[in-house]
Amino acid sequence: MNSNDRNLRNIGVIAHVDAGKTTVTERILFHTGENHRIGEVHDGSARMDFDPQERQRGITIDSAAVSVQWKGAQINIIDTPGHIDFNVEVRRALRVLDGAVVVFDGVAGVEPQTETNWRLADGYGVPRIAFVNKLDRVGADFRRVVSMIGERLGVKALVLQLPIGAEGGFRGVVDLLAMRSLVWPHDDASEPPQVGAVPPELLDLAVRERERLLEAVVEQDDELLLAYLNGQALPVEALRRAIRKGVLAQAFVPVLGGSAYRNRGVEPLLDAVVDFLPRPGDLPATENRPAADARAPLAALAFKLAHDGHAGMVFVRVYSGRLRRGDTVLNTVTGRVERVSRLYEVHADERIDIDEAQAGDIVAVVGLKDTLTGHTLSDRAHPVQLETISVPEPVIDVA
Ligand code: GDP
Repeated sequence: MNSNDRNLRNIGVIAHVDAGKTTVTERILFHTGENHRIGEVHDGSARMDFDPQERQRGITIDSAAVSVQWKGAQINIIDTPGHIDFNVEVRRALRVLDGAVVVFDGVAGVEPQTETNWRLADGYGVPRIAFVNKLDRVGADFRRVVSMIGERLGVKALVLQLPIGAEGGFRGVVDLLAMRSLVWPHDDASEPPQVGAVPPELLDLAVRERERLLEAVVEQDDELLLAYLNGQALPVEALRRAIRKGVLAQAFVPVLGGSAYRNRGVEPLLDAVVDFLPRPGDLPATENRPAADARAPLAALAFKLAHDGHAGMVFVRVYSGRLRRGDTVLNTVTGRVERVSRLYEVHADERIDIDEAQAGDIVAVVGLKDTLTGHTLSDRAHPVQLETISVPEPVIDVA
């Protein structure tokens, strides 16, 4: 089966330290139902931070991965460190992503680390969507951050939402694709947003913004363009498909907003991940990204080592082929044959034993004795070696 058909997203959350990466990730875990016992971020209970040293320092040093389900899709979230000292870690994580959510602080906007990580993501051709967080903060300004994204990052920001209310009064968003409002009545995360009409005071602005949105989106699809020019109705599904195409081509970056801390805007963000970010097979195959074909020989990259009690686990991205429990595979960097004794899918609070992983999957492997981060695992009869990222490179100067 071509992994293009599998409803899978491998994403990372990228941000400048303090913009809210951990909070956004926590809320994603919450809203996908994986974890209903979430404490606040800084009490040290953040589920993505496995390493005690990370908890102590309050920054995420290493990359872990966690799988969640949303509306029929499996989303694997690969943790990417925000701190620029961990540039190599960011690159390793970016290497195994198919898409990213970039979190911005609604007050600070585009910050230096975001800019640096943005350039790195450009280098790896990682399609992105943007989430302007902390819209509840005093001084938060969605429009200003949208402009900054355009000016500082040099991309076309595709505004998908308008905030309803500002700062302490921020309570919802207008969804410009469906022309409806989503309002979060309480700070209670268990309640979904109330869907309603666009508030009258925002209607003119919403109509203008929607027009700008449509102009950019119809460019991606000849049929839509024709329908648009003929003044015909544009089905929301077709618009979503065209947006996904534009994101993949990096013609624009969809921008959403919210306040993760106050549980506002995370469900639409999850929808956007599923609607707009690519499946493994949607990205073009390259030398370092073998085509996502489960029938092809195995090619997998180890991108993180972790410890689970006594056993060492290696987080692996399978690019092509299959990896089964009991398989013997070739580590093409060490030249050694390794045995896969167990395979796990890692969820927020449990690990699920699986028999097989295939092209596109991210899994934790137990049993590999000499496999380190950056090593390639391949079929014994078809050795391949993917690019190893081990040597720190100079931080890209974006000034
Ligand atoms: P990270 O360093 O990017 O992982 O950022 P955190 O998720 O740890 O958030 C940094 C700080 O901002 C924490 O104190 C959060 O509680 C706070 N925070 C996160 N999201 C929001 C938000 O939407 N609104 C407000 N006011 N604070 C937030």
